[in-house]
Amino acid sequence: KKQEILVLKDVKAVTKDGVQVTIDANVGTPEEVAKALEYGAEGIGLLRSEFLYINRFDFPSEDEQFEAYRYVVQTMKGKPVTIRTFDIGGDKDFPYIDLKRENNPYLGMRGLRFSLANIPVFKAQLKAILRASAYGPVGMMFPMVSDVREVIACLDIVNDVKKELIDERKDFDRNVKIGIMIEVPSAALTIDRFIDFVDFFSIGTNDLTQYTLAVDRSNENVADYYIPLHPSVLKLIGMVQDVVQKSGKKLSICGELAAFKDGIFALLKQGIRVFSMSPVSIPDVKKYISEITLE
Ligand code: PEP
Ligand code: MG
Repeated sequence: KKQEILVLKDVKAVTKDGVQVTIDANVGTPEEVAKALEYGAEGIGLLRSEFLYINRFDFPSEDEQFEAYRYVVQTMKGKPVTIRTFDIGGDKDFPYIDLKRENNPYLGMRGLRFSLANIPVFKAQLKAILRASAYGPVGMMFPMVSDVREVIACLDIVNDVKKELIDERKDFDRNVKIGIMIEVPSAALTIDRFIDFVDFFSIGTNDLTQYTLAVDRSNENVADYYIPLHPSVLKLIGMVQDVVQKSGKKLSICGELAAFKDGIFALLKQGIRVFSMSPVSIPDVKKYISEITLE
């Protein structure tokens, strides 16, 4: 198996009829980055930054975060890295965060909502990400966006933070790419409104499925209702794809759907060409792609 991975690692993900596909990795810790390379990822499509916040008693400092992000960027040696801002979930525990108990945490203070309600924490993270962009191609991405006003608020903060970094004489890439996750149906349905504000989009099918079908992704009692290839989910993905493609902006998929053969086939058929998945899935997906004819 190991041998096979090493052989497949450098295989280009191209279908028999010549359709080129980009395969990136989703990673949850800096240690996993080496694995992403070993398994043949062309970039990091999703760095889940939550690893910096869990199992500790206070928020990570800007410098601490900067060191972690820089390590990832440098390890990737010029390959692109998309760092997602803190996506506090419905179920994780952060002893130092005074979260009010919520009856429906997945519909509550989650992702970007938390960041916008905790500006100093958000700014420290944005600064750390921007500083890492001095060491290689970095994109910053915001999770759990439901309305364009959140993005506008976010961009204002990014601009403030850039000015602060300039004053502090800290280096960063002035043109760092900014993107959002499309994982809430309201964002998918109004995708045209977001186009002018950001550089790229990444569809998170795990949450998009959960929120479209009203099925808690972590609730075993309703697991049978969690259908990633449900026509409603595919329809939303198709709408996003149409609008983003026409705009010339970038679109990728970073939910688990991209790692399943039926899923990747459906998504390729819809015209999507960039996928991000767990490193272990990459060799098999590349092999699968190289064996199919899209037509
Ligand atoms: C998703 O929701 O599909 C996704 C990639 O993000 P996460 O699984 O971290 O919520
Ligand atoms: Mg998500």
